[in-house]
Amino acid sequence: MELPYTLTRPLLARVAENRRLTAPGNPSDVRHVVLEFARDALAFQEGQAVGVPPPGLNQRGRPHPPRLFSVASARDGEYGDGQSLALTVKRFFGQDPATGAAIPGLASNFLCDCAVGDQVRLTGPLGDLLRIPDDEPGPLLLFATGTGVAPMRGLLQRRARSAAARQFAAALLHGAPTADDLAYSQEFEQQARGDSGLAYLTARSREQTDNAGQRLYVGQLALNHRDQLAPLLAHPALQVLVCGVRGMEEGVERAIAAIGGEDRLARLRAEGRWRVEVY
Ligand code: NAP
Repeated sequence: MELPYTLTRPLLARVAENRRLTAPGNPSDVRHVVLEFARDALAFQEGQAVGVPPPGLNQRGRPHPPRLFSVASARDGEYGDGQSLALTVKRFFGQDPATGAAIPGLASNFLCDCAVGDQVRLTGPLGDLLRIPDDEPGPLLLFATGTGVAPMRGLLQRRARSAAARQFAAALLHGAPTADDLAYSQEFEQQARGDSGLAYLTARSREQTDNAGQRLYVGQLALNHRDQLAPLLAHPALQVLVCGVRGMEEGVERAIAAIGGEDRLARLRAEGRWRVEVY
């Protein structure tokens, strides 16, 4: 089996599900899109991404390059069958700088509009920023904002399926504007109820404030739960992952320094156990 797949040699997948995660009245249209492919045709790990080339050609008559989406499933597939993966897709619109008109993002709109049975080409897998090597197991301290929760869902799906993955504690600190924007929150809450080693904490920035009256973000959320998180932070094998909006890592850094001590972050970085993907 030759990997990874490329624009000229993509993996052909089929849409198995396209489910809206946000409520109909929410201007943010976030979707859970499941793609199926031939068994074992794609070997990915949690934290990796795949590319989706939008259909059609650009103004120069060339194929559009693939846009990257984090895989939201565990390595054995969304359905645990080795032939599926889920993507968490937010419908994106850019803006024409001259007219101000909304320009639909090609790949996200293609995926958000796809129907069951449609064909999707995939490239990859790729991306090592959030991939934890198998020989570095440890507790997980996960920070996510918005659709940045996708790779964390993959890790937690693996945790739910594997007793070995549950030998260490884990915490997911999840930020979004409102309760409705917290993708997969019911799934995570249910998982945490059945898994005493897993904590699921949320920050609803447009619905909750910190003590200073500012929007509640995941960094402050960690500080609010410092007693609960301190033992996790003290563990020498801890893995910290941060994914979502650019800038969120600063609040997370401050919280880790405040809870674990100034040298904790430096040590996590030096030992390669501080993984950040923000954009
Ligand atoms: P969203 O629903 O708008 O949620 C983002 C949340 O983060 C909001 O609650 C926002 O608060 C909050 N926030 C803003 N600035 C923050 C800061 N400095 N620290 C902590 N929280 C902060 O998110 P989205 O539209 O899905 O965007 C998520 C971002 O993640 C996108 O830029 C996307 O490209 C990126 N992403 C990355 C990956 C990856 O790297 N693999 C995967 C998926 C998504 P307020 O808006 O209320 O201020």
